[in-house]
Amino acid sequence: MLQSQIGPRLSEKTTCNISWDSITLGAYSTDASSYIVKPAAVAFPRNENDMIKILRFASRHKIPVTPRGGGTGLVGGALGRGIILDMRHFNTIRVGQGSVQVGSGVFKGELDRVLRKHGRFFGPNPSVGPFCTVGGMIGTNASGSHSLKYGSTIDNLIGVKIVTSKGDLVSLPSNNIIAKKVLKITGPEIQKQFPRITKNSCGYRIDKVTASSDTQKIIAGSEGTLGIIVSAKLRTITLSKRTVLIIVSYRTLKEAVADVPRILKIGPSSVEIIDHNIIRYIKTRLPRGARCLLFVEFDDNVTKKKTKAKHMLSDRMVTTTSDPKQIRQWWTYRNSALSYSLKSVSKQETVSSLIEDATVPVHRLPLLLDLVEYLTSKYPMRVITYGHAGNGNLHIRPILKKKDSHLLGKIAQEFFSGVISIGGSITGEHGDGLARSKFVKAQYGSEIYSRFRKVKQIFDPANTLNPGKIVT
Ligand SMILES: Cc1cc2nc3c(=O)[nH]c(=O)nc-3n(C[C@H](O)[C@H](O)[C@H](O)COP(=O)(O)OP(=O)(O)OC[C@H]3O[C@@H](n4cnc5c(N)ncnc54)[C@H](O)[C@@H]3O)c2cc1C
Repeated sequence: MLQSQIGPRLSEKTTCNISWDSITLGAYSTDASSYIVKPAAVAFPRNENDMIKILRFASRHKIPVTPRGGGTGLVGGALGRGIILDMRHFNTIRVGQGSVQVGSGVFKGELDRVLRKHGRFFGPNPSVGPFCTVGGMIGTNASGSHSLKYGSTIDNLIGVKIVTSKGDLVSLPSNNIIAKKVLKITGPEIQKQFPRITKNSCGYRIDKVTASSDTQKIIAGSEGTLGIIVSAKLRTITLSKRTVLIIVSYRTLKEAVADVPRILKIGPSSVEIIDHNIIRYIKTRLPRGARCLLFVEFDDNVTKKKTKAKHMLSDRMVTTTSDPKQIRQWWTYRNSALSYSLKSVSKQETVSSLIEDATVPVHRLPLLLDLVEYLTSKYPMRVITYGHAGNGNLHIRPILKKKDSHLLGKIAQEFFSGVISIGGSITGEHGDGLARSKFVKAQYGSEIYSRFRKVKQIFDPANTLNPGKIVT
């Protein structure tokens, strides 16, 4: 079928809104990455019936389908040539005991607002704040500044309902047929072949599926390639009554990351890092020579932990605060790291999202910085660094002159092989998408990669769900 026929033909099959005008297609051609892919049509399903009809139509005509939430993804995961499914109408929230049943199109900001009324919250908190959706967070296995204590989305996903490429509704973990098939591909020996890190959004997380009660976890980080998430059951946590934030300054990134394992022993809920490119936007007087800050937060046993931290970090402390307003202000600085870092990019320069999400064991963070130092001495580039130091996850963004951008492929190859050799993952939370899917095989090797292909076969044998992402 011609691209131009897809919208009109699909609109005959469903009653939901289908758009294929140039303004809509233009708006859905981009996300928060630098990729541009023009779709054929955008569908706005209102219920499961619409979804089933759209997916059966797409499957019959072999048209790619790509689900989309807030479009804040950084790797082009929500971009595709065929039908884009905008999940905004799947927006119900039902709060239960220790969990919440939520539609995949619910925005994180709305979820936070509803849960707050019940004195609860959802642990993973991407810095993009209210603008991402539950579907997108599950799709990328998103995490955030408090994943150190509360885990990534995969660790908080109790159940999920998806529509498969054939238009079947499947609930996991309750579907025994799918569970059996998935469990054949996984096994305890798999875990040894995955990096030993606290966050990982590369490939399918078959290492996390060890029993039939875990099979929903295969959907976390699957980037819309295994099924379209309709709704999910998520674990919620009681909001803490008191929080203390300590800001600590260092002269170099290396000094800061070397201190992280020691700080982790006190039991913080968050340890985040920003470099000198970002701290220059902070409107507070910082110690002379401060080139890097750590944000260290505690949300339990606060008095005891604060005393320990003060004792350990006294000569480096910029501020200690338990005032909610001040804490919010500091987190605004941290959460604006990406937009601050883009401010320093000139018109002649380009910033790459290819290598921006490496995660390594925390004690090996100095090795990751050595690798970056080596690459900046070899290639004409500078880097901006910030991220989730407590999880060993640094967003290292290379900036090059536009005329040198052809070097990015080479830089990525060397960077990724360095990350893998120090026991890390090429992506801790942002996913593979258009940027990194071709490096998934290098991350895991042929044997695990062939298992990923088998996973894809179970859910989407015709390869219509977000093709080209994760397994290529
Ligand atoms: C400024 C900024 C800061 C960020 N900070 C963080 C951070 O701290 N931590 C972090 O983890 N990420 C971060 N991100 C990345 C991004 O916000 C997250 O990946 C987020 O979870 C994406 O959600 P979304 O709704 O925008 O998804 P989209 O971008 O719309 O989609 C992301 C992926 O999920 C899939 N998907 C979407 N909906 C569904 C569905 N219903 N069913 C199946 N698959 C689906 C898409 O196909 C795509 O592959 C940041 C991004 C920005 C721009």
